[in-house]
Amino acid sequence: MSEEAPPEELTAKQRLALPAHTMPLADAEERIHTFDEVPTGYTLAMARAEARRCLQCKKPHCIGGCPVGIDIPTFLRQVDEGDIAGAAKTIRETNFLPAVCGRVCPQDKQCQALCTVGAKHTPVGIGSIERFVADYERERGLDRTPEMAPDTGKKVAIVGAGPAGLTGAYELRRRGHAVTVFEAFHRGGGVMVYGIPRFRLPLEIIDSDLAFLESMGVQFAYNILIGKTLTLDDLFADGFDAILIATGAGLPKMLDIPGSNLNGIYSANEYLTRVYLMHANEFPAHPTPIYQGKKLGVVGAGNTSMDVLRTGKRLGAEVTCYYRRSRAEAPARSEELEHAEQEFIDFKWLSNPVEFIGGDDGFVKAIKCMRMELSEPDESGRRRPVATGETFIDPVDTVVMSLGCNVNPILSQSDDDIFTNKWGIVMVDKETCHTSKAGVFAAGDSITGGSTVILAMGQAKKAAARMHEYLSGTFDYVLDVPDDPEAPGMQWSFRTRKTGKKSATQA
Ligand SMILES: Cc1cc2nc3c(=O)[nH]c(=O)nc-3n(C[C@H](O)[C@H](O)[C@H](O)COP(=O)(O)OP(=O)(O)OC[C@H]3O[C@@H](n4cnc5c(N)ncnc54)[C@H](O)[C@@H]3O)c2cc1C
Ligand code: SF4
Repeated sequence: MSEEAPPEELTAKQRLALPAHTMPLADAEERIHTFDEVPTGYTLAMARAEARRCLQCKKPHCIGGCPVGIDIPTFLRQVDEGDIAGAAKTIRETNFLPAVCGRVCPQDKQCQALCTVGAKHTPVGIGSIERFVADYERERGLDRTPEMAPDTGKKVAIVGAGPAGLTGAYELRRRGHAVTVFEAFHRGGGVMVYGIPRFRLPLEIIDSDLAFLESMGVQFAYNILIGKTLTLDDLFADGFDAILIATGAGLPKMLDIPGSNLNGIYSANEYLTRVYLMHANEFPAHPTPIYQGKKLGVVGAGNTSMDVLRTGKRLGAEVTCYYRRSRAEAPARSEELEHAEQEFIDFKWLSNPVEFIGGDDGFVKAIKCMRMELSEPDESGRRRPVATGETFIDPVDTVVMSLGCNVNPILSQSDDDIFTNKWGIVMVDKETCHTSKAGVFAAGDSITGGSTVILAMGQAKKAAARMHEYLSGTFDYVLDVPDDPEAPGMQWSFRTRKTGKKSATQA
């Protein structure tokens, strides 16, 4: 159904001459006092006007940049024609979480980076249009139920309710399998709920996706830590025919410098979890507290750091970011960095924390940093920071370390058959996502050590397709493991008869 009359045909030259429509942002002075979403969204007219800029390329490079292969030109044409419901259907064919992806995907590095228009002009705003379409679908309650296969009688357990687990649940349920998602926390969503802030991803979007999965018949079992409450073998004994591990990478890395154990020092993971999962900022209305300081220092300048900095600002703190390299080397996406800068956050570049100084009460009072300078590029291609010998001390009453995460070993340590590499990453056959234990597959951050929502979803889709083959009896699997797979430097591999490939090696 078209919202309006179809637009007149334009030549490629005319399309290239159309102005780009960037999504409007809430005013920085006002938005730092709320957790409301910062980009305010397209109107229908803006979405259609932006979609008009698409050239409908014969070879659409944008699709190659999308880890789940959305048919981008088709949905853009449908938006251009005013057929928003049709566009929603097109996106849903390959992407189960479009309202999430339209908001948090790094489109500037994926589909939009490859858009032909971007060679000389601003690329088409694919992500913003995807967000508009998904919101339109949700707000109008359009039917999003996929074609469902009849029940197969097979039972699947999914461990973890983040984007990988939820995508696996969707893909396996629609193929007719009974699906139960086991989640350690009291609610689903994974990092989409307890990491990514509300001002980037409102909770109602995740809740709507969880409710939709429930309406498809997916069961959720909360407050169950697989590896402690139940083991993988318990699940098999309970009648599950296959298992998908989708436990993410939630074990924070911390700086090992003097004072690291002082009170008032958090990992980014704990800080964000307290605020967004436990609503600690609303203590005592909610039972979990957070130490809400007046001067917050954040160590690191990646995307997660930007989320912590901007969260701290909204909690009323004066916020400073400490990073040992310069702005040019900061790993955060430029858009995230710009949004943080707009929000009056202080950045101390070339500042390497060397000590946290505490008071008699055991709480952190100050941060001591070494001033750095840049020398030659290191193996990562970024210029190496070297100490100048000059230090400075800043007063702080809260510190958040945002230095990345590792895979939590709780599950793999509870089962000797699940092989991990030296960083705890669950080893899988890259073609099939099958682990070293028969009938157990894995996807998402647990097999990469940390990436993005859409990559986690892409892997879960691949794993679900192979799990379906496994459950249907057409997946033929052979494990090739040496006698001592844990031996230092040991190379080990496993393969399927189907692909014949050996694709996992122990580093
Ligand atoms: C602060 C932050 C911001 C981010 N921002 C972005 C962004 O803007 N865009 C983007 O694309 N990506 C972003 N990411 C990365 C992205 O969120 C992850 O790559 C993605 O969530 C991984 O999905 P997953 O399903 O593998 O794991 P997770 O989302 O981590 O979900 C894993 C789930 O498994 C549960 N679990 C763990 N162990 C067990 C167990 N033993 N038993 C039962 N349940 C268990 C966990 O509680 C969790 O709910 C961000 C990450 C962080 C930390
Ligand atoms: S590459 Fe850009 S212009 Fe071409 S089809 Fe994709 S979105 Fe449209």
